Amino acid sequence: MAVTKKKAAPKKSNTVKLKFDTSWNYAPAPESKSAATIHKQYDLFINGEWQKPSGKKYFDTINPATEEKLSEVAMANEADTNKAVTAARNAYEKVWKKMPAKERGKYIFRIARMIQEKARELAVIETLDGGKPIRESRDFDVPTAANHFFYYAGWADKLEYAFPNRQASPLGVAGQIIPWNFPLLMAAWKIAPALATGNTVVLKPAETTPLTALKLAEIIQEADLPPGVVNILTGAGETGASIVNHPGIDKIAFTGSTEVGKLIQRAIAGTNKKATLELGGKAANIIFEDAPIDQAVEGVINGIFFNQGHVCCAGSRLYVQESIAKQVIRKLKDRIETLIVGDPIDKNTDIGAINSKQQLDTIHKYLNIGKKEGAEMYESSCPLPRKGYFCRPTIFTNVAQSSRIAQEEIFGPVLAVLTFRTDDEVIEKANNSPYGLSAGVWTDKGSKIFNMTKRMRAGVVWANTFNKFDPSSPFGGYKESGFGREGGLHGLMPYIHLTHQS
Ligand code: NAP
Ligand code: MG
Repeated sequence: MAVTKKKAAPKKSNTVKLKFDTSWNYAPAPESKSAATIHKQYDLFINGEWQKPSGKKYFDTINPATEEKLSEVAMANEADTNKAVTAARNAYEKVWKKMPAKERGKYIFRIARMIQEKARELAVIETLDGGKPIRESRDFDVPTAANHFFYYAGWADKLEYAFPNRQASPLGVAGQIIPWNFPLLMAAWKIAPALATGNTVVLKPAETTPLTALKLAEIIQEADLPPGVVNILTGAGETGASIVNHPGIDKIAFTGSTEVGKLIQRAIAGTNKKATLELGGKAANIIFEDAPIDQAVEGVINGIFFNQGHVCCAGSRLYVQESIAKQVIRKLKDRIETLIVGDPIDKNTDIGAINSKQQLDTIHKYLNIGKKEGAEMYESSCPLPRKGYFCRPTIFTNVAQSSRIAQEEIFGPVLAVLTFRTDDEVIEKANNSPYGLSAGVWTDKGSKIFNMTKRMRAGVVWANTFNKFDPSSPFGGYKESGFGREGGLHGLMPYIHLTHQS
């Protein structure tokens, strides 16, 4: 009998290649800029009033999406730092530390409510000054900043419950220095626990994003906070250094790069100043083969492309279990094609502007390093606006553990993808980093989550989610990501002395 061989049926692919229809676009949906009042010029907020800078110098702050000047802002020098620290000291000694905690709490609640009332304006200013999508400033930065004030306002008169049988007393004047990636939120993280515990503040926002901190100064003035309790000094790195080095400062709270964090640690060595340092990161996001893949991909996308990757805890290293690597990489590539890069003030925008030309140059430098190191680069094919500082979301595959794009913080929308086979291997790889701020685990198994979180050297480990924040949970790093915790009960600790009650 003749046997006829059946032609083998073509192999069915279990993946579907998505085709993206480029023939249509979302209609522009810009948030109205009229919600925001930005003055032409800002002075320094010292002792409850606006004071001219001693050096009579101002610098421009621009919109990184258009490169247009938004305003000019005072450059504080040492004499101004002196004035601000003196005002903070007087306010501390004469008013704030003597005030009943309940009354202090009322002021902080008032600030929280006023942030909510002015939420729209704050969101628009944040987006114009820093380049982050309005959706993020509106839905994340501003509400979370208000929540921090609400949360710590609640603690102000309950410190005896926070620290039972011990007496909490304030440190004095806190010098607080913040970066440009979450300008209002970082100000809230710093100011709210300091005030709740009875300290006064001298705060310096980053040079490229001073406007929401100045708007917060207006809110603080309107809230009738006693003069000198919060002082805001705008300026550059030297202004920050003058706060760090001032002998009248009792505590430094710094969020920024590991490089500057090390400088600060050296500067305060041998002094009585206390410090918390929230520094850089290179978070590992780990996907196991049993994870819900689509959710994990979405989480990874959010983890690295949220706020253009300008996030200290961004999931910039992805470890995928080998058996699902192909599938995950294809889904990631498809997904970044759908991300909208463009004007941050538009409500449809997913990825806004890179904060500064300098940061864009840094990101480009790393893209070249990645290519030279032999990794495969895949960037979205989306068009970029002609003006402003923009970068396409980019994925590197075939990345070696030792390569610089897997080890160093890029602080941009760039994901390095690596693979692993076993739990032990991925733990070793994930922990093989000078940083230890955050990490993510994606798996169906609760036991695996507990096993991984116990062994990961990271301050925060998210499981089946990423980049979630709540004022009641502490945040902070291991190793070169700094020390000290912000948020939650832990966030009160760096601002107090504790003594045993007799
Ligand atoms: P940065 O250069 O370290 O600056 C941070 C702040 O320090 C800015 O206000 C800066 O002023 C000021 N500064 C600069 N030199 C100083 C000095 N010698 N002494 C005192 N202050 C000084 O960091 P960045 O580039 O703005 O921010 C990005 C970095 O922050 C990233 O590494 C990121 O990972 C880290 N970050 C960490 C966290 C966290 O919670 N761990 C959160 C957000 C960001 P100028 O702006 O005027 O230079
Ligand atoms: Mg700006």
